[in-house]
Amino acid sequence: MLLVFVEHEDGVLVEAAREALTFGRTLAVKMGEDLHAALIGSDDDDLVEAAGEYGAETVHTATRAALTDYSPSAYGSIVAQMVESLGPAAVLACGTSRGNEVMAQVAARLDVPFVANALDITPDDDWQITRVQWGGSLLEDVSLEAEVPLVTCGLHAVVSEPGHSQDPDIPDIEEFDIELEDADLVTMVRDRVVQEAGVTLPTAPVVCGGGRGVGSADGFSQLEELAGLLGGRVGCSRAVTNLGWRPHSDQVGQTGTRIAPEIYIASGISGAIQHWVGAMASKHILAINTDAEANMVTKADWAVIGDLHEVIPAIVEEIKARRA
Ligand SMILES: Cc1cc2nc3c(=O)[nH]c(=O)nc-3n(C[C@H](O)[C@H](O)[C@H](O)COP(=O)(O)OP(=O)(O)OC[C@H]3O[C@@H](n4cnc5c(N)ncnc54)[C@H](O)[C@@H]3O)c2cc1C
Repeated sequence: MLLVFVEHEDGVLVEAAREALTFGRTLAVKMGEDLHAALIGSDDDDLVEAAGEYGAETVHTATRAALTDYSPSAYGSIVAQMVESLGPAAVLACGTSRGNEVMAQVAARLDVPFVANALDITPDDDWQITRVQWGGSLLEDVSLEAEVPLVTCGLHAVVSEPGHSQDPDIPDIEEFDIELEDADLVTMVRDRVVQEAGVTLPTAPVVCGGGRGVGSADGFSQLEELAGLLGGRVGCSRAVTNLGWRPHSDQVGQTGTRIAPEIYIASGISGAIQHWVGAMASKHILAINTDAEANMVTKADWAVIGDLHEVIPAIVEEIKARRA
């Protein structure tokens, strides 16, 4: 059995969980193992069914009032208990902060190694793994020798489009008997404050990114307008945050947010590697730049070579005219 830890939020499997199950399906075939899911804090039918749609044959649920919200130590303890009791051949999660945190907890509890952010896995006697380091600017080949390999797959790095299983079925549900101590519940999410309404940068279907070429903080009003019309969000490069034109929460890249929109409209951004690693999971890229040789232009699906201060207002006017 390959056991996949799946994340959920408000009764829905999050994108990361669907990526982990999609990646896990391929890995389970390579290993000759069945795909099982570990679902903690809920045994909701819709969640179980969704896990089945992405290939889980059995879902192991662990529920208790204290687990409804995320607790890294409790979740780690439960996955470790599942490893000891169910004896999976390996455990996989998605390399989100939560996925990596839970796996680190499991590794510490079982005293086994853990490899984060894998891109490619060959599960021989010693597992050969290529993984991303330094936010994507370095690829590292590692060899993992462990009784139970613990691995996370890179978020948006391997599976850009999670896909349903070709042969989905309603999975078996196995209720897992858990033992928790007070020490397992020392860190809990007690409250959530929604800081922004609408789409967020990591999940936005359209991101309108601006770089140093935008020229000023005020210049971003054009990008705000375009993003508003397209139901998207504004992003930016680090040059822009360094200049204080936008907050760090808007920064795309190695030291910012990784995005995976349907389209990334990158205006006045050169496409340095540290920016590119945060943008490369975009399904399509439109670059707007005065420099036809800019990295972002050469990597984009489409490019407009021109001054963004002319091109963006022209796009905005065209969208408004077509919608009128
Ligand atoms: C450790 C480390 C981590 C980093 N992390 C990140 C990160 O997370 N994200 C990130 O973005 N960067 C990051 N950087 C910085 C990165 O290396 C680049 O310096 C940065 O991305 C450049 O930003 P830029 O493209 O906006 O600016 P520039 O490289 O200066 O590019 C500006 C672009 O705008 C174009 N332009 C100028 N005027 C116009 C105009 N009127 N119309 C159209 N185009 C125009 C130019 O042709 C040029 O291509 C990091 C660097 C380091 C060392």
